[in-house]
Amino acid sequence: MYKTIEDEVLKRTAPAELWAEFIQHEFERLRSFCLLIFVASISVWVIFDLIVSFLGGQGFTWRSMVFLVVFAMLTVILLFTRRARHFDVLNLLFVLTMTLGVRLLIEGLPSSYQPAWLVLGASSVLYSTSVLPISRWSFYAAQVTIWLVLNPFLRTDIGLFELRGVLTACYSVFLCGLTIYTFLKLREAKLHNYIMSRLLLDQAYNDTLTEIPNRRSFMARAEKRLMAVPREQDHYLAMIDIDNFKKVNDVYGHDVGDEVLKAIAADIKSVMAPYEYARLGGEEFAIYLAGVRHADVEALAGELCRTVRERPTRHPVTISIGVTRVEDGDTLNQALIKADEALYESKHTGKDRYTFHG
Ligand code: GH3
Ligand code: MG
Ligand code: MG
Repeated sequence: MYKTIEDEVLKRTAPAELWAEFIQHEFERLRSFCLLIFVASISVWVIFDLIVSFLGGQGFTWRSMVFLVVFAMLTVILLFTRRARHFDVLNLLFVLTMTLGVRLLIEGLPSSYQPAWLVLGASSVLYSTSVLPISRWSFYAAQVTIWLVLNPFLRTDIGLFELRGVLTACYSVFLCGLTIYTFLKLREAKLHNYIMSRLLLDQAYNDTLTEIPNRRSFMARAEKRLMAVPREQDHYLAMIDIDNFKKVNDVYGHDVGDEVLKAIAADIKSVMAPYEYARLGGEEFAIYLAGVRHADVEALAGELCRTVRERPTRHPVTISIGVTRVEDGDTLNQALIKADEALYESKHTGKDRYTFHG
């Protein structure tokens, strides 16, 4: 059954915004991995540079210093990079300077070594690039850069049609195809996982009928607000219950009852947009208002009662609200109990009103 649902979800093509959101999400998750790849690439380059400099008799030149400074600068920029599309460009710059640095090293080797080492260098940079969270254009641009700068036929002594040349060309094409395929397939698989996990989180934390957050979501978010220190202003918790809702179901049917629930959820969403609101279950809703004054809460509660009461509809209903100030030592459950007591008070003093606890 799960397989059928999964297939159904993944059959839809992902729109461009979803791709952009996914790539940003990937980059945020893998920022430290990107940093690791940069640092590891630089370290390997430095080790090879030292080997070629001292064993190869090339000497450690000012050019190596320039490359080191540029690598370090790009790594520092990565530390401050927050957007995936900025990383697309940054990585391309890194690939360009790294391939130039590798070319510099290899040109210090005996000419017979050069073609094979250029392909080795290209494959290392290609592999590192193919595992990074970058866009397709950035990956293709990196491929082109790598093969332009580390082209084993450029400034070397092999010809394309001799044995070494044919072997080198075939291997390069194979490598190119393999990294492109891996990059695209991995990206697709990761996007599918992202879509599935988003869907599951959406279903776990949103109420299916009213499409507003559910109890699980409310408890998590309100708890976080409640724990926040220091509290800049007062916090309040409100519980809402629809008045005589059983009668709506009995007189008009359950479907109309559902429509009323949806309409009230929409009213809560519009009046309480900046706050944490949710459908707790049945016909009960809750709102956590952080950083408000008593007068603000009174105005908001009054406006919500009025909005529900005055909504033009064939099935008019009203709501009762119970509000409590969340005291410093209160747990969320204690605050909910107090708000419920205040709600009870509203119900027993005529409904269609709000009451403050105490
Ligand atoms: P009161 O003014 O005292 O709140 O009276 P009430 O009739 O609203 O009483 P109560 O709050 O106990 O009513 C809850 C009713 O809500 C009972 C149940 O049939 C209905 N209900 C709960 N969940 C749903 C739902 O998802 N859809 C519909 N249509 N009705 C629901
Ligand atoms: Mg109720
Ligand atoms: Mg009710």
